[in-house]
Amino acid sequence: MSSPVEPYVMFRNVDKSYDGKTNVVDGLDLDIAKGEFLTLLGPSGSGKTTTLMMLAGFEAPSAGTIQFDGKPITSVPTYKRDFGMVFQNYALFPHMTVAENLAFPLRMRHVPKPDITAKVRKTLDIVQLGHLADRKPGQLSGGQAQRVALARSIVFDPKMVLMDEPLGALDKQLREQMQLEIKRLHHELDITMLYVTHDQTEALTMSDRIAVFSDGKIQQIGTPTQMYGAPENKFVASFMGENNCLDGKITKLGDKGLVSVHLTEFGVEMCAISTRERHIGDPVKLMVRPERVRLVEEGSADAFPAKVTDTIYYGDHVRLVFGANPESALTTRVAHETQGGQWVPGDTVMLSWDPRAAIVFRP
Ligand code: ADP
Ligand code: MG
Repeated sequence: MSSPVEPYVMFRNVDKSYDGKTNVVDGLDLDIAKGEFLTLLGPSGSGKTTTLMMLAGFEAPSAGTIQFDGKPITSVPTYKRDFGMVFQNYALFPHMTVAENLAFPLRMRHVPKPDITAKVRKTLDIVQLGHLADRKPGQLSGGQAQRVALARSIVFDPKMVLMDEPLGALDKQLREQMQLEIKRLHHELDITMLYVTHDQTEALTMSDRIAVFSDGKIQQIGTPTQMYGAPENKFVASFMGENNCLDGKITKLGDKGLVSVHLTEFGVEMCAISTRERHIGDPVKLMVRPERVRLVEEGSADAFPAKVTDTIYYGDHVRLVFGANPESALTTRVAHETQGGQWVPGDTVMLSWDPRAAIVFRP
């Protein structure tokens, strides 16, 4: 980001090792802008929680610096950082009512009693839980309890909210509802949020920017559109949404990063783009999104015949699978009302893609 404003949160060259041998967070540089919704996305064990815990103050970095609002915070105790937190297991106080749970962080901060009452009521209204103020956590559904946890994390006007897989325990429908709810809160309260998830759809739908983690390192950081549409490496390309990954070899170098690739599985040559310098004969992986693989008329240019090996019904669409080897199979999606229903395994169809929709990476 080319903003001249100093980032709100700044990790610089941060390492974290629990055993003194391996870094589970390794040389991390990360900026978060004020008001931003930034998501850490990555597989289990990639260092997301550790990163969040270091910002929260529950873990200390082994090396490097973390600044918040222009000041180093490594020696500031957790409670003084004034961050709201939400975790997967909501950790509400079971013996307190919903209203008392919300009042707690305010009482800790010595907010005057009448102000507490007003603030709790207002916050419960924001998350539409006013009618449950007198219930105990044990009398709430999972979704309601998590909304209380959300309310409790914002009730004291924190400087920032940190959430670690907050929706992990909820079923799909509730999770999607809560995603919208959290986005709405972010928008309405204009609050800075650091969100951790391993769910790429969640990251795509909620975030201003996403940092993809693997092995304690950021593989790429950018807007959802950049991450999905222009992944910089194979890991990001396959982790952000579905992708076909086809073995091939470079056969021709063209203008503006265009290359021709001989696809091993299909024995044909197709175009793609390369963001790195390549040489003729280089082995590559060609990645193309299922939704970008098109079925075209016989005789179309830049197309090749492929035999349907499987059809999978998804309700709103059908996926056609091509290629004998499941490892390197090619999948496309078709809307079943129009064309999907008509194909059966054994049929041969013509496939094509816009060269700009396919990217080559090192194998
Ligand atoms: P994520 O949240 O992406 O799943 P974590 O930050 O929890 O990843 O974990 C990163 C690595 O650090 C993992 O290998 C995990 O086993 C290890 N780890 C996490 N917390 C501790 C801890 N308190 N003590 C020792 N190792 C830990
Ligand atoms: Mg985690």
